[in-house]
Amino acid sequence: MGQELLSLENQVAVITGAASGIGAETASLFASAGADVVLGSYRADGYDITPVVEKVESCGQRAVVVELDVRRSESVDSMVAEAMSAFGRIDIMVANAGIARREDLPERVNDAAWETTIDVNLSGVWRCFRAAIPHMRTAGYGRLVATTSVSGPLQAWVGHSAYAASKAGLIGLVGTLAVELGSAGITCNAIAPGVVESPQSLDQVNSLGPQGLAEQARTNPVRRIGTCRDVAVGLLYLASAESGFVNGHVLVMDGGMWLAGSE
Ligand code: NAD
Repeated sequence: MGQELLSLENQVAVITGAASGIGAETASLFASAGADVVLGSYRADGYDITPVVEKVESCGQRAVVVELDVRRSESVDSMVAEAMSAFGRIDIMVANAGIARREDLPERVNDAAWETTIDVNLSGVWRCFRAAIPHMRTAGYGRLVATTSVSGPLQAWVGHSAYAASKAGLIGLVGTLAVELGSAGITCNAIAPGVVESPQSLDQVNSLGPQGLAEQARTNPVRRIGTCRDVAVGLLYLASAESGFVNGHVLVMDGGMWLAGSE
């Protein structure tokens, strides 16, 4: 039998924000492609990680759940240490955890609000990559993938200047790491989803809410919003060995919405 395309067999993936939305779907998809997974779960958000673990195990793969706060280096480092002690390798790091918090007028954004968003969305990704790189370097192989957004790199998101800055900052991080690490067998890429139905986008206060999502579906060129599965499939490609000639790339998955020119 031939080798299956986009197989992650015998590979280990660490996924952050794994208890909900895109991260949860990615964990299941990666397990169905043959990967064992380490699931970074932020306990304070109260998501139940059990269904994710059950899906992974139903694929015959192992799941290790790690309590994680990407704002703390010790927490990120101990997630990576747990992954190494459980599996002895980290092939893939999907730094997906992120937050969106609606702001007041730009001049009223305080230091704490600004710093929290940058800390989770930008520095948090950097901490995850920093912790994984030494193990990938030793192995001579690695796939670093960040979840950015069309909001920031390509579009404005009114009321979300810190979010936009954090997600745009990831493009600089990913591009430079791609060039620094390519010769070590490590690629670094990002996925930039448009509007995807998940706990983040369904949050009426901090994001679009159900009505906003319905409106986006009406105006998107493909007449729907994205699913977590859509994004997980893109992440699977960037996490796979087959994407080895793709490095420093930002994969936009938004149904063509930003080309259509509306926020
Ligand atoms: P989500 O809110 O379900 O996922 C975010 C995850 O990050 C949650 O599991 C949450 O617990 C975790 N998290 C939050 N703070 C954390 C911390 N300090 N430490 C560790 N984990 C933490 O929503 P989602 O849509 O699945 O979001 C996943 C990623 O996709 C995020 O980076 C988000 O910004 C990005 N994104 C989402 C959309 C969308 O429309 N849903 C669009 C573009 C980008």
